[in-house]
Amino acid sequence: MSIDLREKLSHNLDNVIQRVEQARLKVSSHHIVQIVAVSKYSDTDSIKMLYELGQRAFGENQVQQLEQRSKELDDLPLEWHFIGRLQKNKINKLIESNPSLIHSIDSMELAQALNKRLEAKNRKLNALLQINSSAEETKAGVTPQEAIDIYSQIEESCSNIQLKGVMTIGTHTNNRDDIKKSFEITRDIFDSIKGAEICSMGMSNDFELAIECGSNMVRIGSAIFG
Ligand SMILES: *Cc1c(COP(=O)(O)O)cnc(C)c1O
Repeated sequence: MSIDLREKLSHNLDNVIQRVEQARLKVSSHHIVQIVAVSKYSDTDSIKMLYELGQRAFGENQVQQLEQRSKELDDLPLEWHFIGRLQKNKINKLIESNPSLIHSIDSMELAQALNKRLEAKNRKLNALLQINSSAEETKAGVTPQEAIDIYSQIEESCSNIQLKGVMTIGTHTNNRDDIKKSFEITRDIFDSIKGAEICSMGMSNDFELAIECGSNMVRIGSAIFG
């Protein structure tokens, strides 16, 4: 059974890597894209197997699960990403699990609360500002209109948060033009922020489009874990 699982993961990962490769080459041979394997619906055995297959970056959207898994797999040199909505009462736990990147700073208020906890612990964390590029009410993130202002406010007033760029979730629709628009809006913001390095966009259903729109970090769950 575990050989089957290994084969499935190996096949899926190869497939995703190839598709990322094709999409990034349409942009430029210098355009490098990092794959974050989103393990939220999977288990630690699958994460271990993917590690053996060469995958290093993993993403979780729940603080509890991130904490458990990063502890359980502490002996492996993995890079953990937090990609979910962060509730204020989970901030301490998140800091303890020491993620290499938080993708989901979605308000000034959250940034200030996180910064305060980081200051008290004398710690720093890398983070992205999440942009609600599709204007969907159910989605988290700052509006595209306020994004650049909030980004510089965080840079100025939250010195324990090291902003590295932006993140978005593409519009939830089958209309490729609408999805593309949400990526282009985010890419334009990314381009106008001095020093921004990471543009995190693209999931299983839209990562090639996201890369063609300038994404350099994709968050892929179902296409890898099945
Ligand atoms: C779950 C999730 C993903 C991965 O979704 P898939 O469609 O399974 O690839 C990416 N980003 C965020 C923020 C998520 O919550």
